Amino acid sequence: MAAHVSEKLSERGIELYVEEVKAFEAQDGQVVAVHTEEKSYPAELVILAAGVRPNTTLAQEAGIALGPTGAVAVDEYQRTNVAGIYAGGDVAEALDLVTGQPTYVPLGTTANKQGRVAGENLGGGNACFAGIVGTAVVKVFDIDAARAGLTEALAREAGYDVETTEIKSQAQAHYMPGSKPIRVKLVYERTGRLLGGQMVGFNAAKRIDVIATALYGGWGIDDLSRLDLSYAPPFAPVWDASLIAANVAQK
Ligand SMILES: Cc1cc2nc3c(=O)[nH]c(=O)nc-3n(C[C@H](O)[C@H](O)[C@H](O)COP(=O)(O)OP(=O)(O)OC[C@H]3O[C@@H](n4cnc5c(N)ncnc54)[C@H](O)[C@@H]3O)c2cc1C
Repeated sequence: MAAHVSEKLSERGIELYVEEVKAFEAQDGQVVAVHTEEKSYPAELVILAAGVRPNTTLAQEAGIALGPTGAVAVDEYQRTNVAGIYAGGDVAEALDLVTGQPTYVPLGTTANKQGRVAGENLGGGNACFAGIVGTAVVKVFDIDAARAGLTEALAREAGYDVETTEIKSQAQAHYMPGSKPIRVKLVYERTGRLLGGQMVGFNAAKRIDVIATALYGGWGIDDLSRLDLSYAPPFAPVWDASLIAANVAQK
């Protein structure tokens, strides 16, 4: 899937180098080059986007326990280990509904839901946050890249007996003028239990919600293949890409 995103970037004149950065070179206080293990690239501007770590200093000073991910450990009521202190959002962990383990996926979707639960409970309520499947989407020019659940690498790392299926289909009926491609990869256990899915292509960002729903429900490939998904030529082929992927996976 990454190759298709890379292709799309390349079409727009953006080259992707997946290499480990070793050093930045500066002259007169201005960056002039980035050195990787492989080679050096001249540079006028460097943007570092090297991931996110929770800022837990204040929490730790208050005696609040962190979980295995390094973020604040919370229960389903967003309670920390200190009575009367709740946490949610980028500082806190969430339950991964696929693995059943705490995870750290700092996104606005989770922050809003956890904040709502914490707020309700602070006000004397009894709200629960179910957990997440790590649904995330990004726009790359005229295509979307989307994921929910585990990637193949994450699933293998977690020790699952992993199978994968990758298909290429169309986002609209193939005979619609301007019909655009969409790719779907499903990651599942040999038993058929769905572990994750990734999509790249037109309208992938909202199509991934089908996979997110299936993961929330703990469904298998069979359940996914039976869904009554919408069809009309401008919106999808009669077999939506998710259904085709599930059918191929069943084989
Ligand atoms: C560029 C960018 C794009 C993003 N795009 C998306 C997206 O498309 N989809 C998505 O789901 N998520 C996205 N996110 C992630 C999302 O914005 C965050 O997950 C979300 O805002 C986290 O909410 P939060 O309330 O936990 O933290 P924040 O939004 O960071 O709010 C924390 C607040 O606490 C305040 N604060 C900090 N320390 C103290 C203190 N000691 N006392 C008082 N106040 C304090 C801060 O000033 C801040 O206002 C994006 C993030 C970035 C940076």
